[in-house]
Amino acid sequence: MTVSESDFDVVVIGAGAAGLAAALSAVEQGCTRVLISEATSVVGGSSRLAGGVVMGSGSRLQQKAGIDDDPSDLFKEYMSLNHWDVAAGPVKRLTARSGETIDWLADRGVKFFDRLIFGGDERKPRSHCVDGGGQSLVNALSAACRSAGVDIALGHRVDQLLTDGDKVTGVIAEGETITADAVVIATGGFGANPELLQKYFPSSWTADWTWYIGADGSRGDAIGFAEQLGAQLTGFDRGLRTLDPHFAKLNEAFLPGWTILLDSSGRRFCDETAPYGILDTLVRARGNRAFVVFDDAALRPPAESADRYRDCYKQVWPNHPPFRPKNYTADLVDENVATGRAKSARDLPALAEAIGVPAETLEGEVHRYNTLAANGEDTDFGKAGKFLLPLSTAPFYAVEVRPATVNMTSCGLRIDEKARVLRHDGAAIDGLFAAGECTGGILGETYMGSGNSLANACGFGRIAGEEAAHAARSGAAS
Ligand SMILES: Cc1cc2nc3c(=O)[nH]c(=O)nc-3n(C[C@H](O)[C@H](O)[C@H](O)COP(=O)(O)OP(=O)(O)OC[C@H]3O[C@@H](n4cnc5c(N)ncnc54)[C@H](O)[C@@H]3O)c2cc1C
Repeated sequence: MTVSESDFDVVVIGAGAAGLAAALSAVEQGCTRVLISEATSVVGGSSRLAGGVVMGSGSRLQQKAGIDDDPSDLFKEYMSLNHWDVAAGPVKRLTARSGETIDWLADRGVKFFDRLIFGGDERKPRSHCVDGGGQSLVNALSAACRSAGVDIALGHRVDQLLTDGDKVTGVIAEGETITADAVVIATGGFGANPELLQKYFPSSWTADWTWYIGADGSRGDAIGFAEQLGAQLTGFDRGLRTLDPHFAKLNEAFLPGWTILLDSSGRRFCDETAPYGILDTLVRARGNRAFVVFDDAALRPPAESADRYRDCYKQVWPNHPPFRPKNYTADLVDENVATGRAKSARDLPALAEAIGVPAETLEGEVHRYNTLAANGEDTDFGKAGKFLLPLSTAPFYAVEVRPATVNMTSCGLRIDEKARVLRHDGAAIDGLFAAGECTGGILGETYMGSGNSLANACGFGRIAGEEAAHAARSGAAS
């Protein structure tokens, strides 16, 4: 489509959560001519597909729920969980404004549930759940953008950035040249681009196995812009992967509590109900391969314990129906046993042989687990007692899983705490800002938990929009 004008204060590339937050913030900072150029025919990108959980510390909702929290605690936990291997300056700014960003979203029509959840392994509940998920968040922000006068051009993919010397002066989209005082890149990740996944997120890649759950527009166009401008990329091989049994492309963020997870040598190594970001990191440390093991009682539970087998998830989200197994159901497992993808055996030594681990190890681990289950306490890895069900009903099953479901990518443009994009020589590129999944260095080796990425998209979207507005008004970022 053609846009109404060819000169804007701020052009935002991409209409996901980051782009919408950036555009709205630019208007709120006094810009009157703001354009969002969106490649696809819909607003929302991966943001609209999201569960709609947003992490934030110090929000009004937390206070209302009586949760005494402070953004500096979030910053400390963020840094510890990531072994300080993230960009501390930008992360500090993001976390400092994270609660205020939840309030900002709520004030612009995003409806959150009162009840907060634990998104990962944090000490206090900080994950805010949007009623209606990511689509509702996007709807509220795009409605706010439209009523603030933001021009949203759909089917308008930006191919190139316009430059004048070292300064970015606009974009070229669908053959149209559009000038701007400042440009915000908010093009999302590269999960839909197999070549870029192999190059920048190789640990997610297993040929004929890896798949992406996000939007088609996540083609990694920001990486092309980086090449054009000599901008830095950071966050190599980072992103969020969930464990996939290679059955039917069903994303299953959490494992059912009645499974045990074994490494390639047949050893159990964690609480199977751990947050998905933690499971991702643990499996990465074990060669990106593991086995999910369970027994027939889990697939066809006896009537008297059906409830225990059904309610097998630690996580209960107010904006989501109760989690239930997707892949690990009798129908899908039977189907995949028939094709050889899942292994089944009458006894544990035969199962061990089928998956190539020592029989003694597998038998020993199951025996040990069954003893823990009988005692009602997982003294090895701390799984809650209610999930401890013995693996004692033949046949037994084992499914090889890989962290091959790509949820999001976090290698991208390096930005500073003002969302300015940095060149190879370390200088901020004049007139250029970036936010959300197209950036790197903010999300670390371990996904903090549900809400980490939308907090980044909304939080840095706001910062990028504000800074772009300042740049547009003054000719340089404040
Ligand atoms: C199924 C699913 C569930 C998730 N659930 C959660 C959750 O509950 N909480 C959480 O924190 N995170 C969640 N995530 C991750 C999170 O949703 C994303 O990381 C985040 O929304 C990314 O926001 P963004 O604005 O950076 O990118 P996107 O929302 O992907 O938006 C980028 C936009 O840019 C457009 N674009 C790309 N290139 C161009 C171009 N050249 N020109 C113009 N437009 C372009 C795209 O079409 C897209 O619309 C989930 C992800 C998925 C896939």
